[in-house]
Amino acid sequence: MNDEQRLEATRDRLQDIHARYGAVVLANSLGAEDMVLTDLTARLGLPFGVFCLDTGRLPSETYDLLDRLPEHYPALTLSVYYPDAEALAAWVGQHGVNAFYRGVELRQACCHLRKVEPLARALAGQQAWITGMRREQSSTRSELPFEAFDDDHGLMKFNPLADWQEADVWRYIREHQVPYNALHDKHYPSIGCAPCTRAIAVGEDLRAGRWWWENPETKECGLHVRIPQG
Ligand code: SF4
Repeated sequence: MNDEQRLEATRDRLQDIHARYGAVVLANSLGAEDMVLTDLTARLGLPFGVFCLDTGRLPSETYDLLDRLPEHYPALTLSVYYPDAEALAAWVGQHGVNAFYRGVELRQACCHLRKVEPLARALAGQQAWITGMRREQSSTRSELPFEAFDDDHGLMKFNPLADWQEADVWRYIREHQVPYNALHDKHYPSIGCAPCTRAIAVGEDLRAGRWWWENPETKECGLHVRIPQG
């Protein structure tokens, strides 16, 4: 499959999602892949709602990009979800502002408060959601399907870029002048919260800069894998 065929197949996937499920939601983490999907959605005129999770700990470059979206995509319906302020204040009061460095459980609890619970609110009442996940991104994503029922959230989940390579993402961004996070130009392929994201070296796994102090098997935030609670 050449580049144009892959792009056409992706457009077909998005239109097929719309035909089957109507105005579903697209999760935009403000990373490169999600910006590609946001751009495709806008160009195709699809009525998908786009939502972002503002964890309160995002890098300033991410907020800069978020600030540009309404101007660049005026027709887009953009929603931002925030952590529950009371629950977060109680947890930070008990464990401290940077507790996530002190163990996987504390890290996952922070991700739960700042990402997983707000995501559940963003997906409530929806029939399907779309993500920019790709198989190439990490060992935890190598078997990623284009679509599957998301048991954790009780709705369909689509990954229309599952077969894209990193070069495909950046070719699209350049050719379509898609706005992107300035941190990508500083060797950050995967961007999350500021204290949990760092630049990677040449040849490292694309998600090596996320939670670098943990084992690869635990390096998901709970948005895309089930985290045991309790
Ligand atoms: S990525 Fe880090 S700061 Fe952000 S929610 Fe997870 S543990 Fe907390």
